Amino acid sequence: MSAEIISGTEMRAAILEELASEVEAMKAKYGKVPGLVTILVGENPASVSYVTLKVKTALKLGFHEIQDNQPESITEEALLDLIEQYNQDPNIHGILVQLPLPKHISEEKIIYAIDPDKDVDGFHPVNLGRMVIGGEDGGFLPCTPAGIQEMIVRSGTETSGAEVVVVGRSNIVGKPIAIMMGQKGRGANSTVTMVHTRTRDLAEHCRRADILIVAAGVPGLVKPDWIKPGATVIDVGVNRVGTSSTGKAILSGDVDFAEACKVAGKITPVPGGVGPMTIALLMKNTVRSAWMALENKSSAAYVCR
Ligand code: NAD
Repeated sequence: MSAEIISGTEMRAAILEELASEVEAMKAKYGKVPGLVTILVGENPASVSYVTLKVKTALKLGFHEIQDNQPESITEEALLDLIEQYNQDPNIHGILVQLPLPKHISEEKIIYAIDPDKDVDGFHPVNLGRMVIGGEDGGFLPCTPAGIQEMIVRSGTETSGAEVVVVGRSNIVGKPIAIMMGQKGRGANSTVTMVHTRTRDLAEHCRRADILIVAAGVPGLVKPDWIKPGATVIDVGVNRVGTSSTGKAILSGDVDFAEACKVAGKITPVPGGVGPMTIALLMKNTVRSAWMALENKSSAAYVCR
């Protein structure tokens, strides 16, 4: 048996095409396009490359995009003022502050300062609270978990009543995806177990999973005999395991991919799996935020498209 590969790259292309049509429809109806500001502090190479990709994607979709690069030396106060300026700007619908920030700036303070209705990363506690409460009128979902759920839905995997095991309990992946999969609604209604470093028998839990979501950051953690035959495996891990002769990073997931393919029903590759979906969902949140603003609705009262 060889698992069906769930391609995040292909799904991202499909989502971006759908969003491009929405941008056209918005332009036709309101003469406006979604506005996204990406704030980058300093020159951390990984952050620069993430921001560059986000900016390129936003521009390709026809967004009004501001790339606001700030020096490493910017004070917390000045950054808070900048965020307030974008909070008040009616042409900006999404504010993205690339993390991590320099040590002299509190990430918590910065995230809290973003208007929850412009928090397209879905990191503000108001949006996390709305996510926990659930329902059709939720706020912005954090992009990586939202991307994971979208992949599961688009791959045709049944989630209702399914046993879902999530490996990892971080605030940005493990915890939110575990909550989301257990909610009522599309791509959810699952029975969820969240496992972590203190779990007694990790393998035994994983073997029960109809859908196994792995976000541990440990290359090759999940062995093929931890996978239930036919299960859907979502490998979130992105681990640098070496460098190619051309100096490029060699990446690997948390699952032994080649062997897992012989057991799983469907599986995501690394790279080309969850990674590309994160950016697609960021764009989707921004388009949704723009619709909300143009139709005078708060995210708490807006039915997800
Ligand atoms: P994290 O380090 O914050 O959390 C890892 C979690 O895994 C922890 O809760 C820990 O308890 C658990 N864990 C670690 N080792 C374990 C083990 N041996 N057994 C059981 N549980 C274990 O990491 P994170 O931010 O959630 O990221 C996880 C992975 O996902 C990383 O490789 C990261 O690069 C990747 N990631 C990818 C994307 C994407 O867009 N593709 C986004 C975010 C994170």
